[in-house]
Amino acid sequence: MGVPGAGEQPRVRSRHQSRLLELLRDEGPLSRVALGERLDLPRAKLAGELSRLIDTGLVQVGGPAASRGGRRSTLVHLAEDLRFIAVDVGATSVAVAVTDGRCEVLANERAECDVRLGPTQVLGRVVDMAGRVLDKAPGRLMGAGIGLPGPVSFRDGMPVAPPIMPGWDRYPVREELAGKWGRPVTVDNDVNVMALGERHAGVARSLDDLIFVKIGTGIGCGIVVGGRVYRGVAGTAGDIGHIKLDDYGPACACGEVGCLEAYFGGAALARDALTLARSGRSNMLAATLEDRGRLTASDVGTAAAAGDFAAANLVREGGRRLGHVIASLVSFLNPGMVVIGGGVSRLGHPLLAEVRSSVYRRSLPLATGNLPIVLSELGDLAGVTGAAWSATDHTFN
Ligand SMILES: [Zn+2]
Repeated sequence: MGVPGAGEQPRVRSRHQSRLLELLRDEGPLSRVALGERLDLPRAKLAGELSRLIDTGLVQVGGPAASRGGRRSTLVHLAEDLRFIAVDVGATSVAVAVTDGRCEVLANERAECDVRLGPTQVLGRVVDMAGRVLDKAPGRLMGAGIGLPGPVSFRDGMPVAPPIMPGWDRYPVREELAGKWGRPVTVDNDVNVMALGERHAGVARSLDDLIFVKIGTGIGCGIVVGGRVYRGVAGTAGDIGHIKLDDYGPACACGEVGCLEAYFGGAALARDALTLARSGRSNMLAATLEDRGRLTASDVGTAAAAGDFAAANLVREGGRRLGHVIASLVSFLNPGMVVIGGGVSRLGHPLLAEVRSSVYRRSLPLATGNLPIVLSELGDLAGVTGAAWSATDHTFN
């Protein structure tokens, strides 16, 4: 595949230049005056740093800004043709987007894809999709970011012992994609990139301390502390899906029993829905099973919303268990916000109500006094937005 705009990668040479690029990414076009004030830089120093960034082609100067104090200023913005590839690999689907320097999605594609097919097939698919989305929004490719559904060594750019990804253990994802695209690539856990996405452009905008809980096929948690993702020593921080709730609970994909994920994740809900349908406890789920031959977590949501008692009960029970775990996290970390996302979060407000009541009942009032527990605002785009943010963060620093 040809790489649009391939050539020498512009170098960011100073801390001031990094801060300038970050400000323009996070806040959009700014006047020279505003930039100088925000960075506390004298005019001459700012002019020097800006002209170096303009020379690299990363920054452009646009039309005149609103006049302030009689002096006409000019808006400075990130070059409009900067492009980043952002990839969100889930357990059962892949999303690939191309964004501008502000992490705005310009084109994207999503496809069903089982991560268990292994890295060769899945990454081959990613490269094909990236070629197509780049064709829809051409420009100068600067970098790429990818989120994977398992523990990742951020430093080494590869997954490490991921439980649901056979064949991926220590596979050199970063090297392979960087080789294909000729640009730097960042590799992170999918939940971490979703947390970054919400923090950059979603419901947690500009919050420095938050947790993002993803309920998809499995359950995981992204932890942002002081504005940075906390990954732990080996990259497994936030792996809350395998917190054990009961020594005698249902079997989990990880080989243990009684994990949170074995009670309440997409896979657990689909399993319980099947039991309800077959035992005659839910007529609605039985009818759906009859119709389509299979049941998913979203069928539970549909049945619950339509007033099916057994299905609503599943959502309540799951929300209560999830709430127990989140209450412990809140006591431990005292975050400024809890964001709930991932496919199963489409169960929506009944789930949210249960989690909230569980957390507020079990945590200290001081920790929950100002604690919003909310649904993800970016939904399906949280992962690609965060992967793009991670890529820009690398390029701009
Ligand atoms: Zn487990």
